[in-house]
Amino acid sequence: MKPTEQLLNDILDEVRPLIGKGKVADYIPALAEVPANKLGIAVCYNDGEIIQAGDSEEGFSIQSISKALSLTLAMTLYQPEEIWQRVGKEPSGHAFNSMIQLELENGIPRNPFINAGALVVSDLLHSRLSAPQYRMLELVRKLAQNPHICYDKVVAASEMQHSDRNASIAYLMRSFGNFDNEVMPVLTNYFSYCALKMSCVDLAKTFSYLANKGLPLGAKKTIITQTQCKQMNALLATCGLYDGAGEFAYRVGMPGKSGVGGGIIAIVPGEMTIAVWSPELDPSGNSLAGTAALELLAERIGRSIF
Ligand code: GLN
Repeated sequence: MKPTEQLLNDILDEVRPLIGKGKVADYIPALAEVPANKLGIAVCYNDGEIIQAGDSEEGFSIQSISKALSLTLAMTLYQPEEIWQRVGKEPSGHAFNSMIQLELENGIPRNPFINAGALVVSDLLHSRLSAPQYRMLELVRKLAQNPHICYDKVVAASEMQHSDRNASIAYLMRSFGNFDNEVMPVLTNYFSYCALKMSCVDLAKTFSYLANKGLPLGAKKTIITQTQCKQMNALLATCGLYDGAGEFAYRVGMPGKSGVGGGIIAIVPGEMTIAVWSPELDPSGNSLAGTAALELLAERIGRSIF
């Protein structure tokens, strides 16, 4: 069954009582100030049809959802072995900002979707692009078909002021020889990617290529190959929600990526991309009401990759 606007509105009404039961990210003031009652959802079909409800056109900080975009960009610039000798493909089972495994595993992060892994990917982008922030923005605007998407400079600056943990992760990897550039410029880029401000509609359109074998919305050429698209979806399904990935697979059953801004994207390969936003998070740092909305939607429309 195809979701209607009515169905999306009903789902948002059903999950709204969860607001108040989670916690808005508060490690930087710019995120702590976001109203907890924001709730939006957008579905983008592979043919471009959009169905949306709630605060689906309001921009928010995409945070770690950007990790899927940086990996995509890295896949277009590097041979697979150049990436996978520096970062693993396994679920971490630890918090997104944990560094516990790095010490035990020679500075090789478990996967590209935890902070350590995304920092390695940012390091790779830094080595091969002369203006990585510009290239990322250009890519996102093209994928979302929205030239107005920008970095939120307040969020990025605030992240930089509270960067001790991510800097420590990067320096630890550098001590193992798994970081090629100076840490601070790479961190600046990483925080900018996290500070991309996008709406649910923007995100659903942007990630359409993952539901369509690498072909972006309205494009004639793929940005990644069909094989790379399969690999991305496999990594998203196993690692996209940190130590909540198993729970998400169990409840929602789709490849997905979350961010501490409260956004989640989910992919139904061959058919559609879904984006939800609700700022309050569960203990793993994934949107509480957002996950519940995706679970209800998956059930009502009868979709799952499993
Ligand atoms: N900017 C955040 C950080 O680096 C992103 C984390 C997230 O969304 N899980 O800690």
